[in-house]
Amino acid sequence: MTKEEILESYSENIMPTYTKVPLVFVKGKGSKLWDIHSKAYLDFFPGWGVGNLGHCHPKVMQAVRDQVDKLIFIPNNYYQIPQAKLAREMVYWTYPAKVFFCNSGAEANEGAIKLSRKFGRGRFEIITFDNAFHGRTLATLTATGQKKYQEGFEPLVEGFKTVKFNDILAVKAAITDKTVAIMLELVQGEGGINVADKSFVQELRSICDEKNMLLIVDEVQTGIGRTGKLFCYQHYGIIPDIMTLAKALGGGLPIGMMVVKKEIADTLQPGTHASTFGGGLVISRAALAVLVAIQKEKLLVNATKMGEYLFVKLNELKDKFSVIKEVRGKGLMIGVELNIPGKAIVEKCVEKGLLINCTHDTVLRLMPALNITKKDIDKAVNLLDEVLKEI
Ligand SMILES: *Cc1c(COP(=O)(O)O)cnc(C)c1O
Repeated sequence: MTKEEILESYSENIMPTYTKVPLVFVKGKGSKLWDIHSKAYLDFFPGWGVGNLGHCHPKVMQAVRDQVDKLIFIPNNYYQIPQAKLAREMVYWTYPAKVFFCNSGAEANEGAIKLSRKFGRGRFEIITFDNAFHGRTLATLTATGQKKYQEGFEPLVEGFKTVKFNDILAVKAAITDKTVAIMLELVQGEGGINVADKSFVQELRSICDEKNMLLIVDEVQTGIGRTGKLFCYQHYGIIPDIMTLAKALGGGLPIGMMVVKKEIADTLQPGTHASTFGGGLVISRAALAVLVAIQKEKLLVNATKMGEYLFVKLNELKDKFSVIKEVRGKGLMIGVELNIPGKAIVEKCVEKGLLINCTHDTVLRLMPALNITKKDIDKAVNLLDEVLKEI
């Protein structure tokens, strides 16, 4: 197919739910992508948060190939080896817990909401935050505290209260005798890279302990090394009751997971929750390979170091260009807040072969692979510098 034919098939046959960039990609390796005309791009937003190992990590590819040759699918009423290994590995790297496997971030959060309601025995209200993003199903959309995602889909699901982020008094004021959980991202991704304060999160933990409520941490975007620790909650000196994961966990394949503290993990009994494809053999093998690669290649150390380096470099741009208001984030999850819309900058970067993202209209979002090099950071920052000069 030619590029024109491909674009035409999309406009004719695929529902227009995405704002699309007219690029057709055919190959990827690490932080590099090639389009249909063999033009190379440096990817500083691989897979929209999926590509923590970059594209096509060899160990992930090998694990997938090996599994495809043996067995692809077995339903969840039987036992299989990769899922057993992955669950054990996840619990080892987190806290005493049991996991539930599903296919996406929204589905993991939906599971956390359902578990909370069962746990609540009549308490059902969940407190969430302004500018949060938890997914597109009806319940997770309601939990997503942004009107622009909700408009037209009313009536929304009952029992959610959205309050100001990092405002403990607002949280306290929203709690009633029906409140069962508080749900948040420790670094809001879609909402503009807003970092939760440590004292705020620790107070949420105390409130939940005191009132027998659940603290749900949505690590769909922050998880799997993105912030320099395997999980972002590890920066905060707390343990959540439920952590949800997706995006980077499968190394490019679809997976979702909820990691639930052991004491409450038997809340969902047979027949109360399920997912046909959850924790399939191929995906579980891929996720295991991701976890091994992160340890073996010391990617948490690299993410921390490169995150600091990128942060310094972007702050140099901030000193140079008055359109940059602030650089913020954690590890390799970095937002550059502008005082102008970021769309034109992203488009100019694409022309120069650099892929980045803009979220919340004015925040450039950079989330390169955890194995990014200094050289590639220099290249990306130089391209961004050129673009900012032209703006
Ligand atoms: C992307 C995202 C989701 C939704 O994940 P899907 O796999 O698209 O359903 C939920 N929460 C956060 C924080 C996300 O970044």
